[in-house]
Amino acid sequence: DISKLQRRSEFEWVVAPYGRMRVPAVIYASVELVAAMDEKVYQQATQVAMLPGIVQASYAMPDAHWGYGFPIGGVAAFDAEQGGVVSAGGVGFDISCGVRTLRTGLTWHDIEPVKTRLADSLFARIPAGVYSTGQYPLAPPEMDAMLRGGAQWALQRGFGEAADLDCTEEHGCMAGADPAQVSERAKRRQRDEMGTLGSGNHYLEVQHVTEILDRHIAEAFGLRAGDILVSIHCGSRGLGHQIGTDYLKEMLQGARQAGIGLPDRELACAHLDSLLGRRYLGAMRAAANCALANRQILTHLTRETFRELFPDSRLTLLYDVSHNTCKEETHAVDGLKRRLFVHRKGATRAFGPGHPDLPPQFRDTGQPVLIGGSMGTASYILAGAAGDKENAFGSACHGAGRSLSRHEASRRWNGRTVVDELRAKGILIRSPSMRGVAEEAPLAYKDVGAVVAAAEHAGLARIAARLEPLISIKG
Ligand code: 5GP
Ligand code: MN
Ligand code: MN
Repeated sequence: DISKLQRRSEFEWVVAPYGRMRVPAVIYASVELVAAMDEKVYQQATQVAMLPGIVQASYAMPDAHWGYGFPIGGVAAFDAEQGGVVSAGGVGFDISCGVRTLRTGLTWHDIEPVKTRLADSLFARIPAGVYSTGQYPLAPPEMDAMLRGGAQWALQRGFGEAADLDCTEEHGCMAGADPAQVSERAKRRQRDEMGTLGSGNHYLEVQHVTEILDRHIAEAFGLRAGDILVSIHCGSRGLGHQIGTDYLKEMLQGARQAGIGLPDRELACAHLDSLLGRRYLGAMRAAANCALANRQILTHLTRETFRELFPDSRLTLLYDVSHNTCKEETHAVDGLKRRLFVHRKGATRAFGPGHPDLPPQFRDTGQPVLIGGSMGTASYILAGAAGDKENAFGSACHGAGRSLSRHEASRRWNGRTVVDELRAKGILIRSPSMRGVAEEAPLAYKDVGAVVAAAEHAGLARIAARLEPLISIKG
């Protein structure tokens, strides 16, 4: 029911503060997307706006859908000096889940004749599925080194190339990680899971560039029509999930003790300057490093696999972005620069041209924003667009966003049929779980083209290139 929303501009919808809301809730979307959006998204964005120390507004991106406490596709920033909070549900359970995209130097013509072999080799090499284990079990001291070092740790262990770090957020290592705040149980769950994709919507996809939409940005990103790319979407596996579970419990109790009135128990949180808040941040950053290390190991496995078929191939990293995070950043609010803790849950950082925190190669264009669509439709590469005026603290969407629940999707579709239909379209799916494939059927997602168009019109990011899948290894 969009009559509850005020239309501030063509792609911006607002719930003005009422009741316990401290700031407005803002949704960036076209009229079609907002009308089709689960009403729980406005409700959740409205409840986030009630949390202590929230700054400016609670935001929802065009791909937003209902999530645990915060919407997926939600952005909210808090000021520690004004009683601000950090929320485990505002980061999400798959801490630092993200996407990295590699250029291969190959074209569609190179891949097409060996597509089946490549799909089988990748599927044999990349551990996928709920219970998949990797080849690199981590004993306790090594676990802590990984949690502190992230992709930098992985590099020291021989996974990857030094240049990869220049193209990874945080230079591959999130500062402030504190492995001592991660439970033994979380570490145990991760022991055998390094270098694994995980389940569900996580994927390793071989894609080709079907259309360049912004020549200047595409050229700067090294993308041409017909190029083959590999995108890897995964996160912090069992470790991140266990940290989320552990701290959610503590935050529920802690919030009560701290007198934080929660509009919904799923919004459990802790003051940023409390011991619990700081402990969570230390654990969350350790999980971010786990995700960065994990994607780095998967990159190494991908390179090895490509070299079997293409001995001269060189896979170079375009960028690695996380979309489930809480990061301390400086933003101008009403003309004043402030240190804020920006939660992005199912939202990508999208810093624009000139942003001082970006690696030099992206200063002219803005950072790459890597958007998954589905295993049967397009995906997109955008560039952050924020200029002097930033929307949603320099954030954009992270995917197409679900339009149907997993349960509903698995009721409607049969995994085997989905695989067959996609094969007829030239897309090879490899997955250990046919139920998983059904849950991820392309029609369970929104129209990704409409989502990225809305992000562009709302001034969040600019569309650079459109990709289509050739091979999808699904968890
Ligand atoms: P999430 O991080 O919320 O789990 O998922 C991010 C996005 O990835 C989803 O909103 C969806 O649009 C996209 N996605 C899910 N499965 C696939 C897939 O197999 N391939 C591609 N390219 N995108 C996918
Ligand atoms: Mn994830
Ligand atoms: Mn994700």
